[in-house]
Amino acid sequence: MSRKVLVLGEVRDGSLRNVTFEAIAAGKTVAEGGEVVGVLIGESVQALGKEMIQYGADRVVTVEDEKLKRYSPDGYSQAFLAVAGSENPEGIIFGHTALGKDLAPKIAGKLDAGLISDAIAVDAAGEHIVFTRPIYSGKAFEKKIVTDGIIFATVRPNNITSLEKDESKTGEIQTIQAEIKDLRTIIKEVVRKASEGVDLSEAKVIISGGRGVKSEEGFKPLKELADVLGGAVGASRGACDAGYCDYSLQIGQTGKVVTPDLYIACGISGAIQHLAGMSNSKVIVAINKDPEANIFNIADYGIVGDLFEVVPLLTEEFKKLKVTSA
Ligand SMILES: Cc1cc2nc3c(=O)[nH]c(=O)nc-3n(C[C@H](O)[C@H](O)[C@H](O)COP(=O)(O)OP(=O)(O)OC[C@H]3O[C@@H](n4cnc5c(N)ncnc54)[C@H](O)[C@@H]3O)c2cc1C
Repeated sequence: MSRKVLVLGEVRDGSLRNVTFEAIAAGKTVAEGGEVVGVLIGESVQALGKEMIQYGADRVVTVEDEKLKRYSPDGYSQAFLAVAGSENPEGIIFGHTALGKDLAPKIAGKLDAGLISDAIAVDAAGEHIVFTRPIYSGKAFEKKIVTDGIIFATVRPNNITSLEKDESKTGEIQTIQAEIKDLRTIIKEVVRKASEGVDLSEAKVIISGGRGVKSEEGFKPLKELADVLGGAVGASRGACDAGYCDYSLQIGQTGKVVTPDLYIACGISGAIQHLAGMSNSKVIVAINKDPEANIFNIADYGIVGDLFEVVPLLTEEFKKLKVTSA
């Protein structure tokens, strides 16, 4: 059954986040040959529509207003609902990001639709679209289908492969008017603590440090390894609680959920709450002094040793590989 599917584009620092392209790929699956319509909300976002089309959207609808310069639940809800009202979609896909997690339930409520959140796979199987999502902190997976109403889902970043970019693809980019009013909250300023480097939730490589890193200074070798691999630095709550790094780096049940291609855990014991945030990483490497540490139970590769010896060695070896392959 072919459907019309709206996919929300997510903009950060003037560019589309990768999860937008993954959401378009998911939208294509849900559309089953129907139309994927990109939705862009912001102050001046029209120029980004082209990229959504190049990644697979058939056309794009934008809502632009100076009140939409920064995210606000009321403003974005009003803008998205205006698009949904004129398009009457049978499917909606958002990224499972901070914005998507906040906005999707509000929109689902207003549209009287169900919501499948945090999907890591979307498949067309017979008459249904099947979403796979982790439960019990990633220890099990459930499959969900929508039997009635709009198929509405959020997709976890880094799990669904985006389509190849086709620079020659074109499509209509249309701006619609929506009245943005009665905003109960306004974001006046965004102060970023961990502004440098790669975005943790979209990083392909993460070097994570735990209490074993022992100090703020101890994170330096991890940062060096991350730089060589083009990755981001993450942390356990143990390291955050000890004041070695900022809480914005925390991975786990009460931190960020990540799915990089490579996760290197340094001086992290592997508490269940930490595993909840990283156990779906494609390849896990653990470096720990204690051969009994629980992290080795989920690691693909384990190195028993002192991280302050092992991490600089890895950095040197990866540097050599880079020089050889350059
Ligand atoms: C409700 C709740 C929510 C939580 N949410 C989270 C969460 O989101 N994320 C999270 O991470 N935790 C979370 N926790 C905390 C979690 O239970 C653990 O306490 C925490 O993950 C431990 O952090 P750690 O592994 O860095 O420290 P530790 O458990 O102290 O482990 C340190 C490890 O470093 C190793 N080590 C020490 N020195 C070296 C060295 N030189 N070289 C190599 N290895 C070394 C040690 O052998 C040890 O295994 C939560 C807890 C609760 C109760």
